[in-house]
Amino acid sequence: MILPPGLTEKDFSAALEQFTAVVGKEWVFRTDEDVNLYRDAYSPFWNEEEDRVPAAAVAPDGVEQIQQIVRIANKYQIPLWTVSTGKNLGYGAASPALSGSVILDLKRMNRILEVNDKTYYAVVEPGVSYFDLYRYIQEHKLNVWIDPADPGWGSPLGNALERGGGRTPMRDHFGAVCGLEVVLANGEVLRTGMGALPESAIWHQYKYGFGPYVDGIFSQSNFGIVTRMGLFLMPAPEAYRDGRVSVQKHDDLIPFMEKYAYLLNSDILRGNMMLESPLLSYKVSQGRAVFDMPGDPPVEELERIGKEKNLPYWSALFRFWGAPKIIDAQWEYTKEKFAEIPGATFSDGRSYKFPNDIKIEEIEADTLAALGIPNLGVFGLLQGADGHLGFSPIIPMTGEAIFKALKVYGEMYTELGLSPSNQFAALPWSYYPRALVFLFGISTYKDVEKNKKNREIFKKMIKVSAENGWGEYRTHVAFMDDVAAAYSFNDYVLRRFNETLKDAIDPNGILSPGKSGIWPKRLRKDKE
Ligand code: ADP
Repeated sequence: MILPPGLTEKDFSAALEQFTAVVGKEWVFRTDEDVNLYRDAYSPFWNEEEDRVPAAAVAPDGVEQIQQIVRIANKYQIPLWTVSTGKNLGYGAASPALSGSVILDLKRMNRILEVNDKTYYAVVEPGVSYFDLYRYIQEHKLNVWIDPADPGWGSPLGNALERGGGRTPMRDHFGAVCGLEVVLANGEVLRTGMGALPESAIWHQYKYGFGPYVDGIFSQSNFGIVTRMGLFLMPAPEAYRDGRVSVQKHDDLIPFMEKYAYLLNSDILRGNMMLESPLLSYKVSQGRAVFDMPGDPPVEELERIGKEKNLPYWSALFRFWGAPKIIDAQWEYTKEKFAEIPGATFSDGRSYKFPNDIKIEEIEADTLAALGIPNLGVFGLLQGADGHLGFSPIIPMTGEAIFKALKVYGEMYTELGLSPSNQFAALPWSYYPRALVFLFGISTYKDVEKNKKNREIFKKMIKVSAENGWGEYRTHVAFMDDVAAAYSFNDYVLRRFNETLKDAIDPNGILSPGKSGIWPKRLRKDKE
C-alpha cells in the first residue's frame, strides 16, 4: 500500500475515516485488490517503479459530498485525482499523474438531468456514459443524436473535458460544451456562463454568459471538479448517406486537401474525414512503413503499382446527415468539386432514411459511431500488444503538411533504427475544421524492455513534432510534463500562467497534481 506524499499512515487513516463518514463504508476503496482497478491497464510502466499507483479511491454521490471530501483533502493535503467513468484508455485510464493520489471516482453521479429535443442539448453528470445517454434518448424517443467517442463506455463529460473527438458534425466534443457546474478546490460551487444567473433559464443554450469565458480553464486542467455539463446535441437527421472519393496520384493529395478544407468550411462536408491510402496500405502489407523511409520504392514505381493493381493513392469516405434532398445535393456537389482532379473516382456507399432498422451487427464500429450509436468496436484494433498509448499531434489541414509528417516521422524512425514493419501510424483525421490530427497508437506490453523502448520513441516523437511546429492535443499521464514542456513560447509563460492560477485557486495543491504538467507549488520540482 502506498500513502499520499508527505502523509503519515495515521493521518491518512484518519482522513479515510472522515471520507467514510461522508460517503459510507462501501464507497471508500483501500485494499490493493480494489485500488488496483484504478491503475492503468495499458500502463507504459508495467512492473516498474514509476507506474502510477493510487493510494485509495472515494466515490461520492453528489455535490455536497464532494464539497465535504474537498474540505477533508485540504485539511490533510491529500491529492484528489478526479475521474468520471475512468475509461480514458490510451491516456492513463483512471490512473493519476502522481502516485499516492486518492481517486475521486464520480461514476455514481450518473444522472441524466435533461435532454431537450426542441433546442437540442443534454445536461449530464460525470458518471453518465455514452451508452446511458443513447439508451435514454432511445427509450424516451427523443429527436436528437449523440456523438459518441470510441469507445462508448466512457462519459460525454470526461471526454469533452479531455477535448476528445467523434464522427458527426458535433465531433468537437469540447466545442459542444455549454455551461458547467464546478466544485472548486475551496469547496465552493461555481456555475459558468449563463449559469451564474441565479434564475438562469438559458444555462445550457448560450455558452458565454458575461465577462471572461472561463469554461476553457476547466478542460484538461486541475482547476476544479466538474459536476454537471451542458452539451449541444444534433437534431436527429432524416437521412444518412456516405460516398467514397479516390484520387490516383501522389501529388493529388494537395488539391484533394484544398477541396476538402473548402467543402468542410462551407458546411457541405460536415463530418470527420479519416484519410486513407489503399496504395500505402499495400506498401505496408509488403513490410514497409506508411512513413517515407530509405528502401521504399520511388513514387513513380508506387504509382505504377497502383495503376496495375487498381489501388488509388488517396481515398476518403465522406458522410452526410440531414434532409434527403440536401444530402443528395451535398454529395453531388462534393463529386463535382473533386472531379476537378483528373482521374478522381467516386462510389456511392450506404443510404439510410430514418427510422431505419439498422443491422448493428453488420456495421463496422466507425460507421456505428457516425450513426450516433456508441459501441466498443475500437478494442478490435489492439492486435498483438497489451495496450497502447495515444500519441496525437495536430498538424495543418494541407497535403503539404501530411507529406512533411510522413517524411519527418520516417526520418525519426530511421534514426531510431526502427524496422519499417514495426509501425503504429495511420493517416490523419479531421476532428476540427481547420486542422488535422494524427492518432498514433504506440504499443504497451507486459514487458519492461519493450515499454522502455516505446517510451523513448514517444518522447522523441514529442520533440520531433515540436521542432516542426506540431503539438499533441492530449496525452497520457506519464507524458504530461514532456508535452507541456513543448509549449514553451516566451520562457514557458503559459505554464507559469497556469501555475499562478493553480496557486491562487488551489493553494494546498489538492486537485489532480500534475494534470497537463501543472503542479502546485508544494510539488513543483523547481519549487521557488
Ligand atoms: P471517461 O469518463 O471518458 O472515461 P475519465 O473519467 O477517464 O474519462 O476522465 C478523463 C480525464 O478527464 C481524467 O483523467 C481527468 O483529468 C479529467 N476529468 C474527468 N472527469 C472530470 C471531472 N468531473 N472534473 C474535472 N476533470 C475531470
